[in-house]
Order: sequence, then structure tokens, then C-alpha cells
Amino acid sequence: QSILEARDVNYIYSDGTHALNGITMAIEKGKTTAVLGGNGAGKSTLFLCFNGILKPRTGSILFDKSPIDYSRKGMKELRSHVGIVFQDPDSQLFSASVYQDISFGPLNMKLPQEEVAARVKTAMERTGILHLKDKPTHSLSFGQKKRAAIAGVLAMSPQVLVLDEPTAGLDPSGVSEIMKLLKEAQRDLGISVVIATHDIDIVPLYCDYTYVMDQGSLVAEGTPHNVFSQK
Ligand code: ADP
Ligand code: ADP
Repeated sequence: QSILEARDVNYIYSDGTHALNGITMAIEKGKTTAVLGGNGAGKSTLFLCFNGILKPRTGSILFDKSPIDYSRKGMKELRSHVGIVFQDPDSQLFSASVYQDISFGPLNMKLPQEEVAARVKTAMERTGILHLKDKPTHSLSFGQKKRAAIAGVLAMSPQVLVLDEPTAGLDPSGVSEIMKLLKEAQRDLGISVVIATHDIDIVPLYCDYTYVMDQGSLVAEGTPHNVFSQK
């Protein structure tokens, strides 16, 4: 049962860079899927396509079996279902306090006040940053910022959480904490998690399925066990 799909997706940047060459992948509902690849593999470009920020030159992106609708209304709808967490948390946090940052998404969805407050609290608890709620976002550590960015997206109750390099720049304990909280969110909320990573070590530990990209192309896919046992 796939929730998000790329079908023969090609993307070319305006300078002529072929960032994605015929990418076909299916993200299974309720699983953790890794998109593994080195720098320049095309992972970020693909994730921007998943979220509708970039539109493939050819091919299509499907959410819940339907090709995504690039109208304003369609994009608003898609972004309420597919939440994206960027690699650099500073690109996602801009309010005066952690609480305000995390409430931005649900407020924007025009939810009732109590619903916003409840979602923000739950998201902060889930990411272990409740005690930081009144701090200015810029005063947080890098790992705390990563958590705050994740909390902000979780507060919008997406069906799919797409994260670009969620563990980059963290020490080993930070890596396992982030991956554990993602696994818990997936298990408790039934969401699907997709991570782009260059960190091969986390894939067999935390992911159910992996796609491997290199220079814009898909070069392997399967369970981590299958992918890493065949060289
Ligand atoms: P096999 O190990 O028999 O070759 P697969 O590698 O196709 O089988 O799938 C093994 C497991 O991975 C199955 O439980 C299947 O549901 C799951 N799976 C298959 N495709 C995906 C996917 N795109 N995302 C997440 N899980 C998947
Ligand atoms: P990854 O996330 O796997 O590192 P990217 O999707 O960022 O890969 O990049 C894929 C390719 O597209 C690379 O060759 C990169 O240099 C190029 N690229 C990324 N962003 C742009 C851009 N805004 N303009 C031109 N080329 C880009």
C-alpha cells in the first residue's frame, strides 16, 4: 500500500543539471523508508518534488494514488499531508520562541485555539523539547533545533513525514535519539517516514526499506538486509 510515489521522474535545473533521471519509487504506508546516496545524488531534489515545491520536468508524483495537483489549493492540501523537514533547521525556524515556531503551522491551518495548543504540546513532548518552549529559537543547540523543526511539522499531523538528512551533524547519541523519536511517531501515529541520508549505518538499524541513488539515478532498492548483502 503506497502513500507516495514517484513515477519516472526527471528534473533538470535551469543551469542544465540533470538532477533526477527517471526515478520511480513507492513509499509504503506506515513504514520508514530511506533514500540513501552521497552528495549530489538527487535526494533533496526528489524530496522537493514529493512536497510539490519543485515540479518534475517529466513523470509524476502521486499522493495516495492520485497525481498531485499543482494549483494553489492542491498545494495547500498536499502540504497538510506531506510534511517536510529540511536539512538546515534554521531555514524552518523563524519565530521569537520555540512555542511560537511550533504553533505556526497549526495556526496557519486555522484550527481552533485549544486544538493548536494541544497539538503543540504533544509535538513538543514527543520531541523532548517541552522544557524549551519559551526559549528563543536561535538560542537552541543544533540538535534541539532539529527537534523543534520536526515538532513544527508533526504539529500539522501529516500522513507522511519527509526528512532531509535528519541525523547529519549530530553526535551518535543525538542520532539514535532522533531516529528513535521518529520510529515512535511512526508507530504511535501511523505516519510514514521517509529520510534522505548519506549515513549508511542508520539504514539497517531504523529503516524497513531503502532506495539507493547515485548521480540522479536509482541504483538499488530493497530491504536493508537484501541491499547490503548483495554487493
Ligand atoms: P523480498 O525480501 O521477498 O525480496 P521485498 O524486498 O520486496 O521482498 O519486501 C520485503 C518487505 O519490505 C515486505 O514486508 C514489504 O512489505 C516491504 N516493502 C516492499 N516494498 C516496500 C517499500 N517501497 N517501502 C517499504 N517497505 C516495502
Ligand atoms: P543530494 O541532496 O543527494 O545531495 P541534490 O538534489 O541536492 O542532491 O542535488 C542533485 C544535483 O542537482 C547536484 O548535481 C546538484 O549540484 C544539483 N543542484 C541542486 N540544487 C541545484 C540548483 N538550485 N541549481 C542547479 N543545480 C542544482
